[in-house]
Amino acid sequence: MYRGAVRCPYCQTADNKVVDSRPSDDGAAIRRRRECLTCGRRFTTYERLEELPLMVVKRAGVKEPFERAKVEAGIQRAVTHRPVDEGAVVAIATEIEEELRAAGAEVSSERVGLAVLERLRDLDPVSYLRFASVYKGFEDVTDFEREVAVLQKSTEPKRHPARSG
Ligand SMILES: [Zn+2]
Repeated sequence: MYRGAVRCPYCQTADNKVVDSRPSDDGAAIRRRRECLTCGRRFTTYERLEELPLMVVKRAGVKEPFERAKVEAGIQRAVTHRPVDEGAVVAIATEIEEELRAAGAEVSSERVGLAVLERLRDLDPVSYLRFASVYKGFEDVTDFEREVAVLQKSTEPKRHPARSG
């Protein structure tokens, strides 16, 4: 996915894989640990995040600049008192930002929410449900139960019901 044109400083080949990815201390770059697939040596690259603004389009059509801090805060709230460490929260927010930036200059707020949900579902079911309840605006316990059912089903293979008419 991120194999681009980054070359190994030892043997100059461009065939490498990312073994670790995290924000730099100031948060303005991504620090990637890479392993060269030709010589097997490891090296680190720092990649600036795209300077182009990423706009989030809300349901009412209003646009606002994407802020990773907001995504992080939302995830942080969902994982409060759960066995999820701070590093995982930052890593998720970083991953989501990269994914969204790679997809284009504009994303819907719905897509941002779904990107968070997808990752929380794998990370911690309780955090997932908390985030889902805020994001989807659960109004009563029925909504919550429906989501639990969806969560349980998500481990089964997906089926596409046949439709007629
Ligand atoms: Zn190499």
